[in-house]
Amino acid sequence: MKPPVCCICDKRLDYPDDGGLIYFKKRPSDKKWDKIMEENGMVGHPPYAEWFCGDHYEKASDLKNLPIDKALKMIIEPSIG
Ligand SMILES: [Zn+2]
Repeated sequence: MKPPVCCICDKRLDYPDDGGLIYFKKRPSDKKWDKIMEENGMVGHPPYAEWFCGDHYEKASDLKNLPIDKALKMIIEPSIG
């Protein structure tokens, strides 16, 4: 796992009191990543999961049914949505 730093604003989280890790909808490439990691008995930070601070956690949580690349874009530039 990556250290708990918000992927939007780079703020270091006071986890678990502030924000948290959100797992987004898996893209085909994410499913492939899961399979490779499982087959090789490896662990790592999933490409479809990111840390969010208290300011961004709620918004990110609302968008977790989207793939991570789309969700991040909408958090950074809500007008694109
Ligand atoms: Zn943040």
